[in-house]
Amino acid sequence: MSISFKISELKGSLPDGVELVAVSKFHSESSVMEAYSAGQRVFGESRVQELAAKAAVLPSDIEWRMIGHLQRNKVRQIVPFVALIESVDSARLAQEIDVRAGECGRVVDILLQINVTQELNKEGWRFEELMEFVNGGDLLRMANLRVRGVMGMATNSDDESVVRGDFAALRCCFGELKPLFGDAFDILSMGMSGDYELAIEHGATSVRIGSSIFGERY
Ligand SMILES: *Cc1c(COP(=O)(O)O)cnc(C)c1O
Repeated sequence: MSISFKISELKGSLPDGVELVAVSKFHSESSVMEAYSAGQRVFGESRVQELAAKAAVLPSDIEWRMIGHLQRNKVRQIVPFVALIESVDSARLAQEIDVRAGECGRVVDILLQINVTQELNKEGWRFEELMEFVNGGDLLRMANLRVRGVMGMATNSDDESVVRGDFAALRCCFGELKPLFGDAFDILSMGMSGDYELAIEHGATSVRIGSSIFGERY
């Protein structure tokens, strides 16, 4: 099945209010262009270098999102153009984005990545630690950041009840945080190729889909 067919099929099947992020990591610029030709404008990448290289040569109306672990020393390379950094998982990273965004006169949209699973190798805040940080007030003082919501992943498991539990927990985190950030806090990014339908059932507003669109990554 062609990439453009997959894009239109997916877009047709997502409920109103759920946005498709096409995860193009490890896939070629021509694959991105195929999705672009089918009308897709929002793309996710997990590595800074690849994101910057694609953004430099592909159409400027593409909305690039950083979804992978971000090192502080690489923030500078994407802050001038990135549309949303979904993977903010530490106070020091938030601070670095705030400083660099200020330097280029931008307000950068971010999501707070939360790990609700038992998987310790997963990136993301533990919710209690995130709440401590948020309640400390530093994040709210970072004037060059706009906190748009929450990003997370479910446990990599065949047990549907575990996956559902994780998505329900992320939704709960989102609900607890929203009153602190207000109206702009409107993105709950969860669900990938294997589990996005369950994520949508639990309130996802944004799904990040790679292999179902572009094929396996090698
Ligand atoms: C790779 C990746 C995805 C997409 O995964 P697929 O299973 O290929 O759909 C989504 N979110 C993050 C954070 C990723 O790194």
